[in-house]
Amino acid sequence: MKNIVVTGGLGFIGSNLVEYLVNKNYFVIIIDNLSYSSNIDNLRTIPKNKYKIYCQDIQNRNKNLYILKKYHPVAIFNLAAETHVDRSIENPYKFIKSNILGVFGVLESLKKYINNKNNKIKLIHVSTDEVYGDIKKNKFSKEKDPYLPSSPYAASKAASDLLIQSYIRTYNLPCIITNCCNNYGPKQFPEKLIPKIIINLLDNKKIPIYGNGKQEREWIHVEDHCSALYKIFQIGQVGEQINIGSGEVRNNLKLTKVLINNFNEIHHIPTKSNISFVKDRPGHDKRYALNSNKLKKKYKWKKKYDLQSGLYATVKWNLAND
Ligand code: NAD
Repeated sequence: MKNIVVTGGLGFIGSNLVEYLVNKNYFVIIIDNLSYSSNIDNLRTIPKNKYKIYCQDIQNRNKNLYILKKYHPVAIFNLAAETHVDRSIENPYKFIKSNILGVFGVLESLKKYINNKNNKIKLIHVSTDEVYGDIKKNKFSKEKDPYLPSSPYAASKAASDLLIQSYIRTYNLPCIITNCCNNYGPKQFPEKLIPKIIINLLDNKKIPIYGNGKQEREWIHVEDHCSALYKIFQIGQVGEQINIGSGEVRNNLKLTKVLINNFNEIHHIPTKSNISFVKDRPGHDKRYALNSNKLKKKYKWKKKYDLQSGLYATVKWNLAND
């Protein structure tokens, strides 16, 4: 059985990825600093002998290096990060530490590990479509587009992507950068848009929508993100940058209305919640959408979920796991 390291493996996407990799017969080593969005319960469906958790910060290079030397993993999937845009506006410092200095910690340990021996390993870094910043209606960001991040979160992810590019070029580190659109699915922390809406519907509370709700986002099911990451690990070439998108773009208001309909259908007791438009987030981008032709054509990747059925399943999951 081969080993893989997943940083941030107790978070939303990380825990789904751990399960995906265990199902592909890997032993997974999780590095997670137990930040507020981590949840050990996210691993409850995975046999305990298929993973090992190290509660530590990815900024700690020596501890990262210890794990690399002990397990000789074939890959590191780097997902550890502070991830909530609103929190990054309130307190950017945590984002600078985890998302920039954290990636620096991973890169430095990887550099040392590779220098010592000729170890075969790939670092798959999980980044976001937000690095490209606000784009015009009907436009799609390509891998070569300039980075124009708007929030401290997006800027910290952009900075770490650039740091990785410099380590690829200068030190020949075997890294691949992936930029994904918004994820949805089981185990997402309740502060994020979709689980928050479902919880408010359940509690008959108002559903706050920023501004006029016309901000457009592309949505991918987390399992489809995992399958794309796995394919990129298997056949991706070192130094590549790859967008991961589903092609399903909706504005926040439309998405909310779909969730309300799904909720009323599944829950039987119709909600008394109403949409409430609230003051817009500072610097709020109007549109993110990715051109994912490279992933589809070169990697022959296909999504499993369409947004309609994926959202329906997600509402069901959240209600069953409330
Ligand atoms: P999440 O907040 O649910 O999970 C993040 C995990 O990382 C948590 O378990 C947390 O404890 C851990 N962590 C944070 N800082 C750490 C550090 N310094 N050292 C060790 N562990 C640390 O986030 P998520 O939504 O699962 O996102 C995972 C990754 O995917 C992030 O890098 C994010 O930028 C990226 N991403 C997310 C989305 C999305 O829609 N959720 C879209 C594109 C990219």
